[in-house]
Amino acid sequence: MEALADGDEQCPACLTRKSASPNLRFKINNKCYHRICESCIDRVYASGGQHTCPYPHCKNTFWKNAWRTQTFEDLNVEKEINIRRDIYSTLNKDEDDFINKRAYDDFLELREMFVMNLLLGTEAQATRRKLNEYKEANGLVRHKDDGSAASKSKTKRTSTTTVDHNYPDQSGLIEGLKKIVVPDVLPPYDPLEGMPIHKDYFTITDDGMDMDTGYEQYKKDDMLTVEGYDFREALEESLTRAFAGLGVFVQVEKSNTLADHATKVAAAATAVGLDDPF
Ligand SMILES: [Zn+2]
Ligand SMILES: [Zn+2]
Repeated sequence: MEALADGDEQCPACLTRKSASPNLRFKINNKCYHRICESCIDRVYASGGQHTCPYPHCKNTFWKNAWRTQTFEDLNVEKEINIRRDIYSTLNKDEDDFINKRAYDDFLELREMFVMNLLLGTEAQATRRKLNEYKEANGLVRHKDDGSAASKSKTKRTSTTTVDHNYPDQSGLIEGLKKIVVPDVLPPYDPLEGMPIHKDYFTITDDGMDMDTGYEQYKKDDMLTVEGYDFREALEESLTRAFAGLGVFVQVEKSNTLADHATKVAAAATAVGLDDPF
């Protein structure tokens, strides 16, 4: 870039200077960090799709949404913060994840080395490759379903990776991690918390169902079999509603005298430990 007056900025693509057009605003991307003015970005992406960075001879290709407004005055600060955000979100272990403090310190040192490598461009390729291997091995890669062969083969590799819980980091990049403790499989949820479903009030026997007890006409009744109930279920449901919670017992109901009735109800209630309902 040619020498500019203090505080002046120039778009490297259209050579517009900030001193000449004060409304000039710049956009940057997270790859080559070239600062290009907004109108150049709009012009390049007018037809949509991906385009190479408008900076002379820069070969990086981007979608338009890769270009964003610069947050920090200093481009180096901007760049470092982005690199840190990216690496920290990948290598996101806490001290609790490690067997001891020493292992955690080693991890922090490794992470800092990665940040510096990417920031200064030393071994940047090897560093990116290691990060990608780590992401792949630990299932952190989100595969866009673009249908390309490359993405398909990647998806396949990730999905066939079997997780060995003895090695918390499958890629071997981070050492000294605690083993992952897989919790025991919980029994299925029981909303009744162990309360027996068994019904004390009545029993429907298969004999009873088969005998000519007058049920036959109800078996064809749509009112009883609607909504997927089978007849036995409908019968059970209506018997439960009729008898549950009322302290009504069929034998008692059948007795002839009222006096007998009263004593039997009391006896039955005591027998099952209920308060006298009457
Ligand atoms: Zn421009
Ligand atoms: Zn560029």
